[in-house]
Amino acid sequence: MDYKIFYNFMLKLTSVFEKSKCRSDFVQGLESAFAKVLQVDNIKIYTLDEFSYTLKDFEKPWENLTDDFQIQKLQTVLNSFVGAKEFAKLVDNIIYIPIFEDTKIIGVLKISLDKKIKHDNDFFNIVQLVQKQISYAVLNFKSGEKMKLNTKFYQTIRNIAKILETQYELSYILPILGEMIDSFIYEHLIYIFIKNKNKKEFKLVWPANIKDTKIYEYLETLTPKSGVIIEREGKVGIFPLLSEQKLLGAVVAYNPFDKLNENEISYLDEISKQASITIERASEYMKTLKDATLDALTGLNNRHQFALRLSEETASAKRQNTSLCCIMTDIDFFKKVNDTYGHAVGDCVLKQVAKTIKKELRENDIPSRYGGEEFAILLPHTTLEEAQLVAQRLRGAIEKKKINIEDYNIEGVKQLGVTISIGVSLYDKKMKEPQQLYQNADKALYEAKESGRNRVVVYHGQ
Ligand code: GH3
Ligand code: MG
Ligand code: MG
Repeated sequence: MDYKIFYNFMLKLTSVFEKSKCRSDFVQGLESAFAKVLQVDNIKIYTLDEFSYTLKDFEKPWENLTDDFQIQKLQTVLNSFVGAKEFAKLVDNIIYIPIFEDTKIIGVLKISLDKKIKHDNDFFNIVQLVQKQISYAVLNFKSGEKMKLNTKFYQTIRNIAKILETQYELSYILPILGEMIDSFIYEHLIYIFIKNKNKKEFKLVWPANIKDTKIYEYLETLTPKSGVIIEREGKVGIFPLLSEQKLLGAVVAYNPFDKLNENEISYLDEISKQASITIERASEYMKTLKDATLDALTGLNNRHQFALRLSEETASAKRQNTSLCCIMTDIDFFKKVNDTYGHAVGDCVLKQVAKTIKKELRENDIPSRYGGEEFAILLPHTTLEEAQLVAQRLRGAIEKKKINIEDYNIEGVKQLGVTISIGVSLYDKKMKEPQQLYQNADKALYEAKESGRNRVVVYHGQ
């Protein structure tokens, strides 16, 4: 072969290796490089899928090859290379060049020629030189894509976490979630199901319909403890959306032909966890918005509702001559939490404190967010001694609670704790105004703060 032709071929090939931006760019580049030394009709690359071991068009790995005759021919060629130490094979007017990963054959480059060439063509000498480089280039492409997928994964996770900064409505959030996951998992269809609370069945919320209704049967096997369910050898993956051991719904990845690979399974698992948080927070927010008697952040009664319940309960205690108490709490040094970790963490702390309070109370007790970081609790049919015990229990529970703030990415801090100060008061029929009940509790609270915080003080009159 003319030295100059060979030189041009190698030059072109090197630039293809260096500059191709996508798979089809790469194959086209190879085509024009080989055209410098051969009369090329077209070039194709076929690679074995790592998981299904089926041959795929390198440019469109998400599509299955449909021409059975062609698949068989390729497979035969591929097999003939195994252990044969050949660099190329000429069959009719087609040249096949094997693609290796170490010693394993992972694919084949197929060069169709315009006209037949002879076996002793110079070309076969140079194939020996470039065959390894082509294999490397194909492998580099694959690993480069894996890295890109990785970056995209973290972007997707971040974006899902961010949706809530602007949007609360599930009907708006779910399609965005679906599209984000969909854009990230190339070869599987993505579905999002939400569990209907009352009917306990799964409802498809994105996209509009699903063809394979067998999916519903798989969904029935999902429980809060079942974890990810993989069906049909990986062609169906069911990822639970969980919130505190409650099943909210599921993300389903589905492909009638292809298996999910390990990477995709672990990514989908992570994404579903992030999606759970987003969905849970949004639906909580919506619930509280619907009902204006509740505080949007904590889900407790709001201040207005507290005032109503205070009049009702004091009136009832007076009428029925029963004992009624009030507890006022205030988080200690809460401003410092905001100042140190930001308002989002402050809000998270407020929610967790509210949740703990709710958990520690009895069903008939009435907790409210009185304002900022202050909570007021009405305790009907409760003596002062009992209320004092409840207050101590609350104080202790908050003191013990570790609030997880991992989601806020604060370096070196995964959890934090707060304390609360508490004032307790007893209703007296002689009170002129219902408000006096909580004003007395507030006075006791003030005393608790003054005397050192993280303590309970009972109001005993002036
Ligand atoms: P003390 O122990 O005396 O109660 O100290 P403190 O810092 O808790 O008291 P202070 O009343 O000075 O601060 C209360 C802070 O609560 C100030 C305000 O920024 C914060 N806060 C009130 N409402 C909210 C809210 O909804 N979210 C957040 N993140 N912070 C809030
Ligand atoms: Mg305060
Ligand atoms: Mg405070």
